[in-house]
Amino acid sequence: SAPAARRSEPAPFKPPAPVIIAVGSGKGGVGKSTIAANLAGACVRQGLRTGLVDADVFGPSAPRLFGLTDAPGLRKTDAGIEPLRAHGVKLVSTGFLVGEREPVVWRGPMVTGAIRQFLTEVNWDGGDGPLDVLIIDMPPGTGDAQLAIAQGVPISGAVIVSTPQTVALDDARKAMALFERTEIPVLGMIENMSFFLCPHCGEGSEIFGRGGARAEAGQMGIPFLGEIPLHPSLRVASDEGRLVALEDGPLAGAFERAASAMLE
Ligand code: ADP
Repeated sequence: SAPAARRSEPAPFKPPAPVIIAVGSGKGGVGKSTIAANLAGACVRQGLRTGLVDADVFGPSAPRLFGLTDAPGLRKTDAGIEPLRAHGVKLVSTGFLVGEREPVVWRGPMVTGAIRQFLTEVNWDGGDGPLDVLIIDMPPGTGDAQLAIAQGVPISGAVIVSTPQTVALDDARKAMALFERTEIPVLGMIENMSFFLCPHCGEGSEIFGRGGARAEAGQMGIPFLGEIPLHPSLRVASDEGRLVALEDGPLAGAFERAASAMLE
């Protein structure tokens, strides 16, 4: 009968948020996850309902960055996978599926399967209303996992994190090429560790050279979204599960400016 036929049709796919931003880098260790988490914090500070998918399946860092290393694993209810919540951000991470010290040794299909679930089966609303922004912390590199994300949800745009060093910029170019191949618009580049901001004297030192990412962004024809200094407080906050973007200090303004430029 007609009603039965209707019931068997899959529910139409509803994107998890009107604005979905992928934060990628190409190279690991440039601070991509730290930046993604603090961009999410800056969005919360702007009053936006914000979610984060830690899609870095082989090196999930959201549990540590959000102070959730002792959190219980993700639960699944009739409404979907229930995200955890910290600092006003709702988040899911493969780090909540396996113990913090257990390395993830998954085969490709399991990785893409987990990512697909995080993009389509999470109960982001949970009675608080739908998300305004979803940030995806992309896995480094340009493989299956990246493709699964690019093809799994309608991504509004990608932010590329790079350091001023040429090796990282070369990788940023590769990350950019992947986004372009998958027709994801690149919103711009954020330069991390732009200069060393001395916690003692408050002066900046340009240890890696300055302006590399800004010039590179110009050459690639993408906007430069801002620079985040190298500052011990960011490393300490990250290890302690705090977001500097939500605190008063020398870095909150930098994240606020980068988030505003990203959402423009
Ligand atoms: P990625 O996600 O690119 O692999 P992470 O975000 O895990 O990199 O950062 C790598 C390390 O560098 C972490 O210990 C982090 O706290 C530190 N870090 C990142 N950015 C900064 C910064 N601007 N100032 C100080 N420490 C930073």
